[in-house]
Amino acid sequence: MLAILLPIIAVGIGLSIVLIFKPVINNSIKLLLSFSGAFLLSTIIFEFLPKVYDEASHNVGVFIMAGLLMQILLEFSSKGAEHGHVHHKDAEKFPLVLFISLCTHALIEGFPLEENVSLLYGVVIHKIPIAIIISAFLINSKMSLSKIILFIFIFSLMTPIGAFIKTQITFLDTYNNHINAFVVGVLLHVSTTILFESSKNHQFNASKLGIIILGIVIAYFI
Ligand SMILES: [Zn+2]
Ligand SMILES: [Zn+2]
Repeated sequence: MLAILLPIIAVGIGLSIVLIFKPVINNSIKLLLSFSGAFLLSTIIFEFLPKVYDEASHNVGVFIMAGLLMQILLEFSSKGAEHGHVHHKDAEKFPLVLFISLCTHALIEGFPLEENVSLLYGVVIHKIPIAIIISAFLINSKMSLSKIILFIFIFSLMTPIGAFIKTQITFLDTYNNHINAFVVGVLLHVSTTILFESSKNHQFNASKLGIIILGIVIAYFI
């Protein structure tokens, strides 16, 4: 149930922050993004990845790399929106390609969440800054508010739908560990990219480093 509700709430929080505070994508959002990247990566490394290897089904590593490749492919069309920046030109029309790749990513990451609570927190925390950045981009574009709401609404449902499908289709249980490994790959790519891009010029930034360490420590104790 949490896996259905929390991702929707996270996107709702992101959209509300944009509607209420109309933030420019500034340093504090970049800090939130760095925190979410460190937190997500830590939940994968500390718990999800060992679990996937523990079950030791055939070719776990191949599925992890397949997930990683999948995310690389998705980012050709989303231009990196899953890890927090939008390069699209001001959209007047509905940005369908961006929408489809974001929704595919969100659907995939929903699959393991019902059974992996710490990963659920990782994904939920990662959704807040992403929802802020995407909402801000859409609101600054020339799209109508109804289209924006439709975009965000459907996007917010995708992760819960992924979680729901996984619980309903028992046939998928046979491939549980392969699915989990695939999601590990997708999320490894997203979270490490967030961290790499947060130190783009390789300049020392004490607050960013502090918030990354905080993300790792909190994930360790959760
Ligand atoms: Zn990028
Ligand atoms: Zn994601």
